[in-house]
Amino acid sequence: MSELSNPKNVQKIIKDHQFSVRKKYGQNFLVDANILGAIVEAADIQKDDLVLEIGPGLGALTEHLLQAGGKVIAVEVDPMLIPILQENLKGYDNLVLINDDILKVDLDALIEKEGGGRKAKVVANLPYYITTPVVMELLEKQTRIESITVMVQKEVAQRMQEGPGSKSYGALSLAVKYYAKAEMLMTVSKHCFIPQPDVESAVIRLDVYDESERPVKTDYEEEMFRLIRAAFNQRRKTLINALSNAQNLSYTKERIQNALTEIGKDISIRGEALTLEEFAQLTAVLEK
Ligand code: SAM
Repeated sequence: MSELSNPKNVQKIIKDHQFSVRKKYGQNFLVDANILGAIVEAADIQKDDLVLEIGPGLGALTEHLLQAGGKVIAVEVDPMLIPILQENLKGYDNLVLINDDILKVDLDALIEKEGGGRKAKVVANLPYYITTPVVMELLEKQTRIESITVMVQKEVAQRMQEGPGSKSYGALSLAVKYYAKAEMLMTVSKHCFIPQPDVESAVIRLDVYDESERPVKTDYEEEMFRLIRAAFNQRRKTLINALSNAQNLSYTKERIQNALTEIGKDISIRGEALTLEEFAQLTAVLEK
């Protein structure tokens, strides 16, 4: 394994390239070879796998993935990192490096083009400022993803596994529950990064279900998540108020009230008290 995760070497690469670390891109480089190895092992990367890495940074995780996997597509937004990555990873012919914003890339098309029918395993030390939109995008809109093994803020990893009644239960928890089997793998100290983030981190693995394996069946997936988002956008309000106020929903108060009664719920209930199954039932009644 090369020196890309050695703290002294990382400082040297940064200095030699006169690279200024950009906070706005959530740049915290992982400098612990054991953790990097553990992430790749947890993601179960095999030689014929297609891997999608979000935010390769200086290439430390990328190099572990390149050595373990078949083909690695790495999408990095910061143009200043591209020549550094090209230099650091120049010995590898199984890397596809793309300079773009992950939220703007057509991932289904990219995975189809590079994978020839294979699904991708996503592996990343995610930039924390866009963790939730990235994970929601991967779960809700992408059809060619097999698993997602990511380093995130510890509290976000916990949020992904929360149930009703908890303060951090929300749209992300419900999306994770609906689309994937989640497993928290390890917590990671802030001392394992350069520069150090303000918070502790954790690695979580999401195994994306095939449609038939999902724990809840619904014919109204899109509508259900629209309703879930509206419920948690105004989480202190009653569900009736949160949903009837939402701009992208057109249910009247009376209709929501009748639907809640039909599924056996109190009309003063808040969204944060509903399970995934109950959101599915409520959506079905409202849509029918
Ligand atoms: N993978 C490297 C590591 O583990 O050391 C770097 C991880 S760092 C936490 C996050 C990386 O994501 C940075 O390289 C940053 O420039 C990149 N990034 C930030 N926003 C991005 C976006 N919208 N699309 C793609 N990459 C992004």
